[in-house]
Parts: sequence; structure tokens; C-alpha cells
Amino acid sequence: MLQSYDAVIIGGGVVGSAVAYFLAGQTDFQGSILVVERDPTYGEAATGRSAGGIRQQFSTPENIRMSSFGAAFLKSIGDHLAVDGEAPEVSFVEAGYLFLATEAGLPVLTGNHAVQTSLGAQVALLSPAELRQHFPWLNVEDLAGGSLGLADEGWLDPYALLQAFRRKARSLGVDYVKDEVVGLDREDGRITGVRLGEAGRIGCAAVVNAAGFRAADVARLAGLELPVRPRKRFVYVFDCRTEISGAPLLIDPSGVYFRPEGAGFICGVSPPETADADCLDFEIDYAPFEEIIWPTLAHRVPAFEAIKLVRAWAGHYDYNMLDQNAILGPHPEVGNFFFANGFSGHGLQQSPAVGRAISELIVYGAYRTLDLRRFAYDRILTGEPIRELNVV
Ligand SMILES: Cc1cc2nc3c(=O)[nH]c(=O)nc-3n(C[C@H](O)[C@H](O)[C@H](O)COP(=O)(O)OP(=O)(O)OC[C@H]3O[C@@H](n4cnc5c(N)ncnc54)[C@H](O)[C@@H]3O)c2cc1C
Repeated sequence: MLQSYDAVIIGGGVVGSAVAYFLAGQTDFQGSILVVERDPTYGEAATGRSAGGIRQQFSTPENIRMSSFGAAFLKSIGDHLAVDGEAPEVSFVEAGYLFLATEAGLPVLTGNHAVQTSLGAQVALLSPAELRQHFPWLNVEDLAGGSLGLADEGWLDPYALLQAFRRKARSLGVDYVKDEVVGLDREDGRITGVRLGEAGRIGCAAVVNAAGFRAADVARLAGLELPVRPRKRFVYVFDCRTEISGAPLLIDPSGVYFRPEGAGFICGVSPPETADADCLDFEIDYAPFEEIIWPTLAHRVPAFEAIKLVRAWAGHYDYNMLDQNAILGPHPEVGNFFFANGFSGHGLQQSPAVGRAISELIVYGAYRTLDLRRFAYDRILTGEPIRELNVV
């Protein structure tokens, strides 16, 4: 490890490792890169605990564009992330998302569909009869329609994607160190060094905050406020005796979702805001499954009356309190401190686009491909949210 780096990335999860990979690959960047990761087993990181979904069905154009790039990247992952001729296997299942709507939700669904298709996303609006035809196991009686992603949507192995970015970044000369960032030296509107718990001070020209649900703690080390909080989410795994074939990742009008996983399924739901306190533990609560999810699943798919809960896990969203959207780019007063935070449940699918975007900001001081200025930190100061209508 050097005493000083051109770029130090705090957090080596899927976002930090994507930034490292894209930065190392920028032809106009010849500098040194260090990723500081406190736990290289990633036992608690959100990435490995994610549901692994990628979708084009957002309402915010920039979110759609980021996922569009993400899907293209995944489909040609061997061209980007192969090491020594060995392409990574991230098990991308391109089975689509299906958003369902009642009469009340139909205007939002059709409005979103218009935005998505105008940007080239392949999404079909289906009537209840068409839904029934596509998915004979689905109860459509209370539905007014659904939107089904026909391409570039589905799910993948999140941990495999993280490892693929990390392995490739290392092969390009990026240093990874197991340590914790415990301090940041800030002088005259710049971060001049990071303080590591074990290795001490490392000088730096640029710093990226990729600390996931701990991002606010890292920002605070630089005296900066970041409205990103750790919010616990549960994923429940279940088996069903009846065969449910061709299931996409389905999102019920209630917000309950499920998708196939191996021979079984996974499912979940976000809690109401009033029951969504900051939380760092991994304790599992089965009540949401018993009281909300299972009854909803059984109503939507009658064969799910007879499912067996197999296990569950908990992970933490890096929840942006302002608008549940990413916060990207430099702090207005600390120009070499870059945020890549607040993804609130989208960070896995956005990691390729975010990695590329942050690398462009570091090298060129501006976005070169996707213009993501809308996600700048400034909106935190002005309190102007980006309203994404498809928050899951
Ligand atoms: C249950 C669940 C389901 C999800 N489903 C989806 C989904 O379907 N699709 C999707 O796109 N996204 C999903 N997400 C969100 C996604 O997982 C995250 O947005 C994404 O993984 C964030 O990646 P990250 O690298 O920023 O954070 P993390 O993976 O949490 O990595 C951050 C890393 O920073 C390290 N770190 C923190 N502080 C320090 C420090 N001071 N010093 C050194 N290292 C530090 C941590 O150890 C950690 O490894 C889901 C999340 C959860 C919890």
C-alpha cells in the first residue's frame, strides 16, 4: 500500500468496486486507486443481502437510463469484467418485472409506461384478460391492468457481480485494503487524507463515499450531513408445491413482491414509514410475512395458499430520507469528496452506471455519457426531491 493515492474509495461493495473498476479503465486516468473495505467478507453489506433485481420500470428518466446501461452491461459482462479470459457468471435471469395496478393505480402505471417506452424500454401494458392469458395462475379479478418488462429486466446474483467488479478492478491495479476509515482530514474545502483505524493516514487527491448504509457516518467524518439512514428490510424464502411457471418479479398493488429463486421463491414488502426506524441489527421479524405478505400472496396467486416458509434474511437499505433516490457527485463545498450514496433499494442495478458516472466526474470534472446532474447533493440543501413514483 502507498502512503498517498490519487483516489481513495471508502467501501468496497458493489458500488465502490464498480467505481474502482471504471476509474481504473478510464484511458485519461493514470493515477493510483485504493479501496478501503472494513469487512472483505461482506457479511453485513447490503449487496449480498439484496434481492438482485434490475428493472427499467421507473418513472424518473435518469433511473431508466441508468438501468438500461446496467442491463446492457450485464448482458455483455464478459467483454468488461473477464480476467485472464475467464468471464464472470452473474446468473442474470431476464424474466421481467410485472407491476400490477387496480383501477386507482392505472393512471400512474400508464403514465410511467409512456415515459419508459419513450426512452426505448420494452414494456407492455396488459389488460386483466391478457394478464390471465400470460399468467394463468394469477388472480386478476380486482386488477385494472399490469405492465410487463419484455427485455432488460429480471434478477442476478448480487454477490457475484460485486466479486466480478472487485476481481477486475484488482487485475487493473486497484489496491484493496481491509481497514476502516475512522477520520478524514479536511483543509480549505478539500479532503487531503483519510485516517485508517490500523494503517493510519493515507493522503488522497479525491475521495468517494461508497459506504452504503453507513454513508452518513463517513460524511460526518468530513463534517458533512448526509440524509441516508440504515433501514432494515426482510427477504422471506418460500416453497410452493404447485408449479407456478414463467413467473416474473411481480409487484402487487399493495407493494408486496415475489419472484422465483431456484426451485422456490423469495418475497418481501417495505414497512409503512411509521414503522421504519433506523436500525443496524439483523434480527428477523416474521410478523410481516404472516400478517401482510402471505395473505396478499394467497389472494394474488391462489396456489400460494399452501406455501411453506423456508427461511428469511435481513439487510439494510441505504435509505435517502429526502426522496429515495441516489445522491451522486461532489459536495458543493468540498469539491473532491464524491457521494455515491442513498440508492434506497436500487443500488445493485445502478452500480454499473454509477461506477462509470463517478469515474467521469473524477477524471473530467463532468459527466461524459449519462447526465446525472439531477442527482447532485445540491437538492439536499434546497430540499427539492426527485419524485420517483415506482419506489419498491
Ligand atoms: C433486502 C434488500 C433487497 C434489495 N434489493 C435490491 C434489488 O432488487 N435491486 C437493487 O438494485 N438493489 C437492491 N437493494 C439495494 C442494494 O443492495 C444496495 O443499494 C447496494 O448493494 C448498495 O451497494 P453499496 O456498495 O453502496 O453498499 P454495501 O454493499 O453495503 O457496501 C458498502 C461497504 O462499505 C463498507 N464500509 C462502510 N463504512 C466503512 C468505513 N468507514 N470504512 C471502510 N469500509 C466501510 C461496508 O463494510 C460495506 O462492505 C436491496 C437491498 C436490500 C437490503
